[in-house]
Amino acid sequence: MDVHNVSLEISAVRPEQYPTTDWPEIALVGRSNVGKSSLTNTLINRKSFARTSSQPGKTQTLNFYNVEEQLFFVDVPGYGYAKVSKSEREKWGQMIERYLTNRSQLKGVISLVDARHAPSDDDINMYNWLMYYDIPVLVVATKADKIAKGKWNKAESIIKKGLQFDNAKSDLLMFSSITKDGKADVWQWIEEHIAE
Ligand code: GDP
Repeated sequence: MDVHNVSLEISAVRPEQYPTTDWPEIALVGRSNVGKSSLTNTLINRKSFARTSSQPGKTQTLNFYNVEEQLFFVDVPGYGYAKVSKSEREKWGQMIERYLTNRSQLKGVISLVDARHAPSDDDINMYNWLMYYDIPVLVVATKADKIAKGKWNKAESIIKKGLQFDNAKSDLLMFSSITKDGKADVWQWIEEHIAE
């Protein structure tokens, strides 16, 4: 998709606030600092539209980005804040669970992991959870520019092994917001899934 027009439609905490359109939605999940804002900005050809490194302790909202009046990117607040209290974490869990399990417009989830490391427990839990609910998942391994291309295969296998990856139900791509490697493939995955 050739994107020129993007706006933040709404920051929602409750289902009543979700957009009432039937446009397809693609959600983005991942721990804070994994590169979610950078991926979003790359996909929509902006330098600093989606805010980078959302602050721990800030209000946790689902941010619906209106992309060309055709689809929404739904930025799901990052998991794995060390400083967040147990009750905050539970509230976050309920909010995203309510969205991800009850939204017919949701066509797929992009789950971000760091290309340089084996997936964290949070990454694994999120992946298993999405598989359990049969939600199409694209795992995007971010910051791939920090690994030599000759080592990408190895990095991919470490991630797949850690996630006990299901090739039939999910896809994996290496991505860099610096070199834009993977950008066209991520868009292709999105377009395939919103067309269904
Ligand atoms: P978010 O908290 O998940 O939204 O993460 P950000 O997009 O704000 O990125 C966190 C940090 O990682 C920032 O310092 C980014 O500049 C850096 N970063 C994000 N993506 C990449 C990437 O593809 N390559 C490199 N080298 N750094 C990245």
